[in-house]
Amino acid sequence: MLEVKGISRFFKGLVALDDVTFTVKQGDILGIIGPNGAGKSTLFNCITCFFPPSKGEVYFEGKKITGLNPFQITELGLTRTFQHTQVFPKLSVYENITTGQYVMKRKDPSRTKRQLEQKAHEIMEFVGVSEYKDTTAENLSLGYQTRLAIGIALATEPKLFLLDEPAAGMNPEETKQLVHLLREIRTKLGVTIILIEHDMKAVMGLCDKIVVLEYGKKIAEGTPQEIQENPRVIEAYLGS
Ligand code: ADP
Ligand code: MG
Repeated sequence: MLEVKGISRFFKGLVALDDVTFTVKQGDILGIIGPNGAGKSTLFNCITCFFPPSKGEVYFEGKKITGLNPFQITELGLTRTFQHTQVFPKLSVYENITTGQYVMKRKDPSRTKRQLEQKAHEIMEFVGVSEYKDTTAENLSLGYQTRLAIGIALATEPKLFLLDEPAAGMNPEETKQLVHLLREIRTKLGVTIILIEHDMKAVMGLCDKIVVLEYGKKIAEGTPQEIQENPRVIEAYLGS
């Protein structure tokens, strides 16, 4: 579904990503882990063209997406969330979701207003924010803002969904619920997922495959069990 081919990204003298290559299979949950500053968020920015890679290319369903605009990539079915949860703070929960639907309106103008409204309600139900539908987003707790950000992304109807540290700032119970939600996004909606996450319990329980970054380089790739037993990974990250 996704092919990341030799991606590098330089910021002046800094090598934030160094020749990173991997693939993602349809239906999988791929985890990206590594210490702070390893280049994980930069990788998402390069895949979704929030900024282009300095070198290398990304293919989505066989089509080269490097060089497109972020909104074009979203229209193709690849959507992301941000490390610092991004919602529209002054809009209601419902309005936040319908804003995400603008992408669908462009992609499929045949949808009626009623169909979109019904879909928006289904999404709010799915991510668990229905009871706050008229609440202004800035008044939600962080956990619910993250759910809402996931709902906005789902409103674009992605095939591939990139999440950047969704459990950051969540307590163990909220994290457990988030893990459950991500599983449902895969099983009920059939969405493929790439997840950047520091919560190792969540990562190891959810992911089919894990890619480990350190100083911009891919230092390991494998199943959760392989990664947990990899001496290089333990030294660079898990041991700490
Ligand atoms: P991670 O998400 O793994 O914590 P990042 O991808 O955010 O790491 O950052 C990787 C490196 O690239 C860091 O050293 C960071 O300071 C640098 N970096 C990221 N984005 C920018 C930017 N827009 N301009 C300059 N340096 C950046
Ligand atoms: Mg990051």
